[in-house]
Amino acid sequence: MNIYCISHDFLYETEKLLMLFFPLEKNTALKEFTEDSGDYFYTEIDRGENNIRFKAVFSYKGQNRSAEKNMSSEECTDEEYELLSLAYPLLKELCGFAPKWGMLTGVRPSKLIMNKMVEIGEDGARDYFTKRFFADEKKTELALSVAKTELRIIENSPKNSFSLYVSIPFCPTRCSYCSFVSHSIGTESAKKLMPEYVNKLCEEIEFTAKKAKENGLVLTNVYWGGGTPTTLEAEDLDRVLTAIEDNFDLSECGEYTVEAGRPDTVTEEKLLVLKKHNVGRISINPQTFSDSVLKAIGRCHTTALTEEKYHLARKIGFDSINMDLIAGLPMDNFESFKRSVDRAIHLGADNITVHTLALKRSSAIVTENESDSVNAEGISNMLDYAFNALTQGGYHPYYMYRQSKSLGNFENVGWCKEGKECRYNILMMEEYQHILSVGAGSVTKLLSPGIEKIERIFNYKFPFEYISRFSGLLEKKERISTFFSEYDNR
Ligand code: SF4
Repeated sequence: MNIYCISHDFLYETEKLLMLFFPLEKNTALKEFTEDSGDYFYTEIDRGENNIRFKAVFSYKGQNRSAEKNMSSEECTDEEYELLSLAYPLLKELCGFAPKWGMLTGVRPSKLIMNKMVEIGEDGARDYFTKRFFADEKKTELALSVAKTELRIIENSPKNSFSLYVSIPFCPTRCSYCSFVSHSIGTESAKKLMPEYVNKLCEEIEFTAKKAKENGLVLTNVYWGGGTPTTLEAEDLDRVLTAIEDNFDLSECGEYTVEAGRPDTVTEEKLLVLKKHNVGRISINPQTFSDSVLKAIGRCHTTALTEEKYHLARKIGFDSINMDLIAGLPMDNFESFKRSVDRAIHLGADNITVHTLALKRSSAIVTENESDSVNAEGISNMLDYAFNALTQGGYHPYYMYRQSKSLGNFENVGWCKEGKECRYNILMMEEYQHILSVGAGSVTKLLSPGIEKIERIFNYKFPFEYISRFSGLLEKKERISTFFSEYDNR
C-alpha cells in the first residue's frame, strides 16, 4: 500500500498504525501525493503561524474516508498523537474491525501501564488506555493485572543485579511458524558445528563471568533459551552447566531455567544432568495437544510424548514446569485449542504461556502461505477462553508482550500459579535488569542508572559466524567494562 506522509516525519508511526490492520502488507512510503487509484493511506500536517491542520485519508477497496482537524499551535502538545488519533477511526471503519488494543502499537503494554500507574495512579492509567488509545476494557484490566505483579518483582530486584542468558540456537527440526535463528540439526553440517559451538560458548561464559565480577554485578537469574537447549547431548549440557558453575558466583541466584521446549529432545539422562546442576525451572512445550496440528506445524512429536516427558520431569523432581501454547496455528480451531488449554491446566503445569501466532516473513508458514486458517475473531475467542479457564484454574497473568505481526495484534501472556512467576521473563521483557548474554544470536543489554539508556551488544547471529568471528565478539564485549566505568566516573 502507498503511505503518503506530507510535511511530517511520522512515517514509522503511521506505518505501525497501518500494521495493526495489515500486518503483512508491504508499504511504499511517499512524500508527495499524485493521483492514486489504488489503496493508500495519506496523512498530512500543515503548520500555520498560530494554527496546525491535520488531515488523514484512507482509501481501501474503492472506498474512501477522510478527516481533518484544526487546532491552535499552543493547544497542540503532541502532533504525532493528534495525527494518528485522527487517522485511526478511518482505518477502523473501512477495515470493519476494532483492534482490541486500540491504537496502541508498542510491544510492552504492561510496561506502559505500569509507568502510568506510578505516574497518575490506577484510574488514570486505565483511562489512558481506554480513552486516549481506545483499548478494550478487558485488555486494559489484563495489562493492569500483569503490571501489578511485575511491580512487586521489579521492586525486589537489587540494583546491581543481572540475569545470564544462554543461547542454544539448535532444534531437532524447524517448526513452520519459526522465525528464530535456529538451526535444524537434521543436516550433517549443523550437527558438525555443535561441538565447536559448545567450546566457544564455554569460553564466552568464562569471559563474561570475568566482566561481571570486574563490574561488581550480582547474578540472580539464569535462563537458557534458543532454539531448544536440550538439543545438546547430556554431556554437552553438563559441560556448559559446569562452565557456568565454575565461573559465576551463583550464591545469589534464585532462579535457574532451561527451556526443554521440544519433548522429542528430552531424555531422562538430560533431565538428571539439569537436576544435578540445580536447574529449578524447565519448559516442556506442547504448543497444542492436537496431533494433527503438531503434524501441520512440523513438530516431530505427539501429544502423548509431551505428557510422557512432563510426567518424567515431575518424577525426577522438577516443581516448576512451563508449557507454551499457541493460538492461531494452522489446522487448529476453537474446540481443539480449548482442549489444549484444558489439558495443560489438568496436567497442572506451574506456568502456562499463551502465545498468539506471529506471522514473521521468514517463517515457512508465511512463505508457504499456510497462515489463513484462523482469523482475528477466532483468535480473540481462543484468548478469551484461555483467560477464563486459566483464571478459574488458579492461574494469574504475570508477564506479557506483543509482537508486531501477531494475528489480530493480540498478545502473548505468561500465566502462573501463585509464587511461580518467572522473574527473568519479567525483568528481561520490561527491561529492568542488566542481561549478560552468551551464545549466537543473543543480545547483552546494559541499563544506565535510572534506565534512561539501554545499550545493546549483539552477538553474531548464526553459529558458524559465532565460531569463526569469536575473537571479534569478545572485543565487542569489552564494552561491558567501559559502559560501567563511564557511569562510575561521572
Ligand atoms: S522449537 Fe522453537 S526455536 Fe525451535 S524451530 Fe520450533 S519454534 Fe523455532
